[in-house]
Amino acid sequence: MDTTKVWQAVLGELEVTLSKANFTTWFKQTDLGGVENGTAVVIVPNAFTREWLKRKYLDDILAALSKHVADCQRVEFSVGQAKAAGNTPVPGEPAGETPAQTEELPAARVPKNSFENFVVADSNKLAYAAAKAVAKDPGSTYNPLFIYGGAGLGKTHLLQAIAREAALKEKKVLYVTAEKFTNDLIAAISQNRTAAFKNTYRKVDVLLVDDIQFLAGKKGTQEEFFHTFNALHQDEKQLVFTSDRPPKAIPTLEERLRSRFEMGMIADVGLPDLETRVAILRAQARQRHYEVSDEVIEYIAKQVQQNIRELGGALIRVMAHAELAGTQATPKLAEQVLGSILTARSHRLVTTTQVVEAAAKFYDVSLEDLKGPKRQKEIVRPRQIAMYLLREEVSLSYPKIGQELGGRDHTTVIHAVDKINGEMEVNEPLRHEVSLIRERLYA
Ligand code: ADP
Ligand code: MG
Repeated sequence: MDTTKVWQAVLGELEVTLSKANFTTWFKQTDLGGVENGTAVVIVPNAFTREWLKRKYLDDILAALSKHVADCQRVEFSVGQAKAAGNTPVPGEPAGETPAQTEELPAARVPKNSFENFVVADSNKLAYAAAKAVAKDPGSTYNPLFIYGGAGLGKTHLLQAIAREAALKEKKVLYVTAEKFTNDLIAAISQNRTAAFKNTYRKVDVLLVDDIQFLAGKKGTQEEFFHTFNALHQDEKQLVFTSDRPPKAIPTLEERLRSRFEMGMIADVGLPDLETRVAILRAQARQRHYEVSDEVIEYIAKQVQQNIRELGGALIRVMAHAELAGTQATPKLAEQVLGSILTARSHRLVTTTQVVEAAAKFYDVSLEDLKGPKRQKEIVRPRQIAMYLLREEVSLSYPKIGQELGGRDHTTVIHAVDKINGEMEVNEPLRHEVSLIRERLYA
């Protein structure tokens, strides 16, 4: 049995039934150790997660496992390091708290993404205003609307808010990820159902496509997408897209499609400042009926800076610890809980120079070579990893990374970062190397 595959399938099932923040908080560092005599052993990062999964998700996990493993009857949890993840291990979690009686999942009461529960700030007000305008009057203001920005900064939230509001207006709305669009298209072609496919995608008032950068490099899908776009746009139907980068920076995007994306309105969502993070946490605490002090909120907001999803996850985790221990959340508790789960980058800043030097040193190449024109494998590889790390650890823009590494073009950088990102999923030695470099960086 391929335990990694089975666990991926199980996670896939659990993911759709849980809120995203809960899913990432509790299942990110888990793995399937194996199944013997009907007992599945699930690897968890620490004792706390073990307690929580046992109390809250045991039935769900067993149900999902049973679908993929013949006669799996029991689940046991074991603390250890997941082999499949490029995650930071979690040392020194407090073990053995006495779980308090709770019946509801912390996030179960949270309403779906809407404009009402979106906190507007400088970093997202343009995207918010454009989304509002589009939802109010689909097809007649900004068409298409293209929203871009980093992971976890509210793109999908805005997209779903538009979908919701337009649907309330009795518009025919279709929300898909670009991945689903692609899969649907492939399935339609292989089953001779392209007419049905067109019917689905071209007969809507509002088409929202999430993470459109997924189309990069997929020529056939881009072609079909181009026609879908034109058909809808001609009929003054609303199109909305999100992407992790602006149209210009999506590699191998057909020029005609790029120019379509740029026809309407392009708005970005940026990193929220401290005040905004505090406001978002307050709103989330309110929605979840958490009683939590300003000090705790501020502590969390200061620690988690890059990603609003992680911000929410951190709050859930702190509150779950408090709940299980039967105490109030305090900044000290938050520090204990988050200190061990946050990656070091949230606490400490590393500089561009440090990252480049760490990569050069690790692979034993000179700075001169790393930044120079050489294209031998022994040099290109460390260079790509340096690019990846500059993106991940320093959040440098693609053009800036290119500049730092010998004046390279931003498309080269994007290609490198995507390549390493993709490999990190499947290449264990690479993950190990990268985590060693990280360790040295933050040591
Ligand atoms: P993206 O699609 O950009 O990766 P999401 O839209 O999934 O990010 O947002 C991640 C999480 O953060 C979601 O739970 C979302 O509701 C929340 N979130 C993001 N931005 C805001 C905001 N401005 N106000 C409230 N919640 C937000
Ligand atoms: Mg998203």
